[in-house]
Amino acid sequence: MEQEGVIKFDLRFTAGAPVPGDVITELNKWRNILWQHALIGQDPCRYDGYGFGNISRRIGAQDAAIGRRAFVISGTQTGHLKQLDNHHYAHVTAYNADSNQVVADGPIRPSSESMTHGVIYDLDQEIKIVLHVHSPDIWRTAIAQGIPVSRASVEYGTPEMSREVLRLFAETDAREQGIFSMGGHEDGIVAFANSADAAGNRLLTALACSKR
Ligand SMILES: [Zn+2]
Repeated sequence: MEQEGVIKFDLRFTAGAPVPGDVITELNKWRNILWQHALIGQDPCRYDGYGFGNISRRIGAQDAAIGRRAFVISGTQTGHLKQLDNHHYAHVTAYNADSNQVVADGPIRPSSESMTHGVIYDLDQEIKIVLHVHSPDIWRTAIAQGIPVSRASVEYGTPEMSREVLRLFAETDAREQGIFSMGGHEDGIVAFANSADAAGNRLLTALACSKR
């Protein structure tokens, strides 16, 4: 199986101050809920013991040009932590899927799935929150639930994944549903919306439906 948590893009990282605590309040509230459902976490029995799940929110101007879009995202390998604070979030200030480069600063390196988050922000200005979780239950029932699924040949965090997200938005109702399953990334699910509550509730609904 592919290894979880390995950064596959060219990261230009500068150590720096954390974002103000209020920037992550809503996001962190949902991080706690998702962690309690084991949709984010770290488990010695799963993924060779690597942490899983990462969450972000857009910051700055909604209509910022490509290359100037920014978001705050949970730091790499923070899944084991029960509670996060602003020292566990990185500030992504630029990203480019074509050159596979991410520019970030903060007290911690950004999640290895930062590029996937960035590509989703590029697809729709209304999207303000992206949540990536791992759920065997949702993943196994995605097709039965009508959730769009990315191609199994596409690995997470790669330029191919960025192109695959574009395809999903063009060819499926992923945008309207606010969720898709990552066919090539075991148990990987991505939800997105214009608010943390909407994205988080979409995941909880999919989780509930997976158990019917
Ligand atoms: Zn993942």
